Amino acid sequence: MLGKSCPAGYKKARKGTGRVDLQAIVDDIAAAIAAQTDRGAVATYIPGLAKVDPQRFGIAIATADGAMLTSGDASAPFSIQSISKVFALTLALGKVGDQLWERVGREPSGTAFNSIVQLEAEKGIPRNPFINAGAIVVADVNLGAHQPREAIGEMLQFLRYLAEDDSVHIDEDIARGEQDTGFRNLALGNYMRAFGNLRHAVDLTLGVYFHQCAIAMSCVQLARAGRFLMFDGRLPGGSRVVSPARARRINALMLTCGHYDASGDFAFRVGMPGKSGVGGGILAVVPGRASIAVWSPGLNANGNSTLGTMALQMLAEATGWSIFQPHE
Ligand code: GLU
Repeated sequence: MLGKSCPAGYKKARKGTGRVDLQAIVDDIAAAIAAQTDRGAVATYIPGLAKVDPQRFGIAIATADGAMLTSGDASAPFSIQSISKVFALTLALGKVGDQLWERVGREPSGTAFNSIVQLEAEKGIPRNPFINAGAIVVADVNLGAHQPREAIGEMLQFLRYLAEDDSVHIDEDIARGEQDTGFRNLALGNYMRAFGNLRHAVDLTLGVYFHQCAIAMSCVQLARAGRFLMFDGRLPGGSRVVSPARARRINALMLTCGHYDASGDFAFRVGMPGKSGVGGGILAVVPGRASIAVWSPGLNANGNSTLGTMALQMLAEATGWSIFQPHE
């Protein structure tokens, strides 16, 4: 789907009387996405993901003024997969602060989400916290002195708090599937353990990682959970989740590393910090304006949602929302 252009006509809801009619834009995007025939391919390496209907599409936008705009399957839970890495990173930075960067880099990898090739040359230090190797180190930090069950519970509580919704849960079928098929992730874990960059038994750290990937959330819940990243680290009510500097840095990592080796293309086309997952979801942030979640299960060759990316590109073009465009 690289370079694939947006369908014509979706801009018709744009601006009108000078005020952007966001609901009309969102509905137009959902209609344009429903008409697409090239929907990408659902991930099949985790059995639970292979069963998901590629026709599904949801979008939810939490705006800075407190509105929630939705269209399509915005309330249907799906497997957030690697989107969980954003929240796991937030928790790990809260535990060990900048010491994390002694164990994980901050550079785009230019390689696939599950690549092992850079680890040997870079002595077991993964390029960034959003490729699998980096996220496994982050899971190891979050495991800390806990039992895996407690670390997973902490992550779930954090997401329930941010989403203001206690129904956020773990899909145990997906978690089992991850465990049964996660040979590459085990290899990454073992390899890093050999370099001394995992502190716990690999199966314990991987247990935390697999369960965080198996968290199920809807677009509405995810858009709510991302709000602290649009508000400089605060929730709408004012409670602080992270410092402004940390929120900016998490956004920077999402922009540069959030879509694996298609991160540059996502920045080029959409221009928002974003994090994808192989469940077909994408969380995108427009600082000061919106926290957005889209879901379309079909993936492109890089493992990112084909139509989710297209929907965000349409939204960016119709609203002018981009970190590369000045606020009006
Ligand atoms: N649980 C998935 C894995 O490690 C996450 C990958 C992704 O969403 O990119 O294979």
